[in-house]
Amino acid sequence: MRVYNFSAGPAVLPEAVLVRAREEMLDWRGSGMSVMEMSHRGPHFKQIAETAEADLRELLGVSEDYHCLFLQGGATGQFAAIPMNLLDDKRKMNYVVTGSWSKKAAAEAKQYGEVRIAATGEAENFTTIPDPASWRVDPEGVYLHYTTNETIGGVEFPFVPEADCPLVTDMSSDFLSRPVAVNRFGLIYAGAQKNMGPAGIVVVIVRKDLLRDPLPGTPSIWDYRKQVEAGSMLNTPPTYNWYLVGLVLEWLREQGGLVAIERRNIEKSELLYGAIEASDFYRNPVDPRYRSRMNVPFTLADPALDATFLKEASERGLVNLKGHRSVGGMRASIYNAMPIEGVKALVDFMQEFERRYG
Ligand SMILES: *Cc1c(COP(=O)(O)O)cnc(C)c1O
Repeated sequence: MRVYNFSAGPAVLPEAVLVRAREEMLDWRGSGMSVMEMSHRGPHFKQIAETAEADLRELLGVSEDYHCLFLQGGATGQFAAIPMNLLDDKRKMNYVVTGSWSKKAAAEAKQYGEVRIAATGEAENFTTIPDPASWRVDPEGVYLHYTTNETIGGVEFPFVPEADCPLVTDMSSDFLSRPVAVNRFGLIYAGAQKNMGPAGIVVVIVRKDLLRDPLPGTPSIWDYRKQVEAGSMLNTPPTYNWYLVGLVLEWLREQGGLVAIERRNIEKSELLYGAIEASDFYRNPVDPRYRSRMNVPFTLADPALDATFLKEASERGLVNLKGHRSVGGMRASIYNAMPIEGVKALVDFMQEFERRYG
């Protein structure tokens, strides 16, 4: 039996994608072999890789001014690859810190240069986004990095900030959940395992004119220019993950693209936040203006009931609702692949639980 899986990542995938992968497991479209068994240099995989890139470009509206890379090392690898590839001789960069992931990105970047923290929400316990008018961006910084959606704290940017330097953004957990004006960004990156596929592959969309000689000592696999030249195949890429990402992209197109998927994400998140707001038993600490549509943390009025809540939820097939250890309570991740029925089942359970224990 399939459950409703609210995991933050690796996370739920569209069932139609898994069924398709099963159908194609032993014999990919008459090739007589599984995608896992194919040469990454052969014609079949070439078709898979090219279709995935074309679908990504079409869904997001990525122009020819940008390269699309499919790499390994996750978003965490990019925390280092970005400064290694984009820094100039001054080696300065700006970071906005709105939660655990942007904090980690800034800490990693410090190995390569001078990091200016343009703003941080730490004093508010990462429950809000500091007013952009108060950000202090160093004009000598090569870029301004921020995280569109903080997966742990549940804080999401509903706007694209203005800046005098290129914007670099970690979209790992809200990538493809809404339309994005890609041309506002210098670089966008996203690990697949939240909203786009299985763990083990990360997409990097980078404006062509930002590429320069990387810092001395940059390993070849982290060198964007070498990866561009090699079509993201400087070494053997994670072929099966790439294929699955391709199936998810195709599924997104069938759903009507990002405008349609955003509509559904709004509906799902409003349903869940509405239930939390309507109750004195459940609480979400985040500034309502910046609540994430993807990751919804909430606490119970009595934390002693947490274990009972999780146990009873799990018995109903509502799983992986335990909050991150740094935040406590619960967290429901409701990515693109979570059907509205899953959110309805969660809300019904929450209301019933409150009636019995509240
Ligand atoms: C999960 C996550 C990461 C880390 O991804 P890895 O693939 O484990 O490196 C980074 N940033 C955000 C926003 C995430 O949600």
